[in-house]
Amino acid sequence: MTLVRKFIVTLLHLKGIFVCDFQFRYRDKELHLYVRPYKTGCRCPHCGRRGGIMHISSSPRMWRDIPVCRWTVFLCYQPKEINCPTHGRIQEEIPWADSYARITYRFEYALLVYCQLMTQKAAARLLRIPTSTLSDLLHQSITRLRDRHRIRGLRSIGVDEISYCKGHKYATIVYDLDRSCVVWVERGKGRDTIDLFFDHCLSEYQREQILWAACDMSEAYMGAIEEHCPNVTLVLDRFHIVKAIHTALDEVRKEQWREATAQERKILKGLRWLLFKRSSTRSKEDSRTLHALQKGNRRIYRAWLLKDEFEHFWDFRTPWAAERFLKRWTTSALRTRLEPMRKVANTLRKYSTQIVAFVHTHLTNAVAEGLNRIIKIIKNRASGFRTLHAFTDMIFLTVGDMDIPAQIPAKFRTL
Ligand SMILES: [Zn+2]
Repeated sequence: MTLVRKFIVTLLHLKGIFVCDFQFRYRDKELHLYVRPYKTGCRCPHCGRRGGIMHISSSPRMWRDIPVCRWTVFLCYQPKEINCPTHGRIQEEIPWADSYARITYRFEYALLVYCQLMTQKAAARLLRIPTSTLSDLLHQSITRLRDRHRIRGLRSIGVDEISYCKGHKYATIVYDLDRSCVVWVERGKGRDTIDLFFDHCLSEYQREQILWAACDMSEAYMGAIEEHCPNVTLVLDRFHIVKAIHTALDEVRKEQWREATAQERKILKGLRWLLFKRSSTRSKEDSRTLHALQKGNRRIYRAWLLKDEFEHFWDFRTPWAAERFLKRWTTSALRTRLEPMRKVANTLRKYSTQIVAFVHTHLTNAVAEGLNRIIKIIKNRASGFRTLHAFTDMIFLTVGDMDIPAQIPAKFRTL
């Protein structure tokens, strides 16, 4: 018996845990290990001293452990209440799991690592539990591990919105641009949402420490950042500016398409993606098609020319030159009779300080866009999330501001 017990302890890496007995349940494919935390006596969870047993819980508790060769493993034990000389009556220390948890630390670690690597469905299959149980366990673990965590050393932030639930609902997401990670996610995309972040997550000192912030052209985000962070330089995100210009250009194209006759439409065919191409990625043929527009459709050509000119803005190294360029560009855009382009020009004029700020900071949400791409992959992999908390869990697990699996005590990271 001793030999078998030793074999099991070694095989399952149950170091420091004493195995009293084991039982194979063939019908359920379960292996029940009857264990004791220590060979001799019970210990206080706070000071580690031994104390006299006061009470033994009547029902045994079971902790799910990592499955082995198609056997689902459970650790079974009846926890005892002890009398510690210092801490009084207390439940003894359970070394293999967090208090009140129904899974062992090792199982929790496997769960977190698997979920980083694969879909929850696949992870659930490997761990031999139902998918719904897995997402509940994941949520509990991540909430517990994140509760002890505080945001630290935030100097550059990026604020953006993401959609979940097939694009019907939005959440606000805050990035730490220096360390390229996500620090906060919350439902909604309005002013009251972003206010929550500044009011509840940061101290006054932390808000003063924020020097750079990048966001899109939303009044809510810009207003909140400027109000809460006194030392901030707000930079409008390059990606969103380019996107706004592209949208305007596309509107011009659509409008022309609607008005065009069948004959005219021939020239406009295949323009959709060609118009957005940057000069560095255009082929000679692309350029020829675009220049043919000068005769084919003046309005689209004019809008495209404006978009193409704006590319130079990102190369400026001095703020005054960038400012002069922006002024000229908006003036020429306002002179055209292209309503969407005029609208963009007016917006850019309104936020010109924040746009020119890019030139001396070169701060962009590029980091955030990179993270956004990863987030999108997570979303697609799970084919969408129905609830925000399931989505948030996965965001924190993969691109959060702390390495969540690393929070499990080192000796339980058995994978
Ligand atoms: Zn104690």
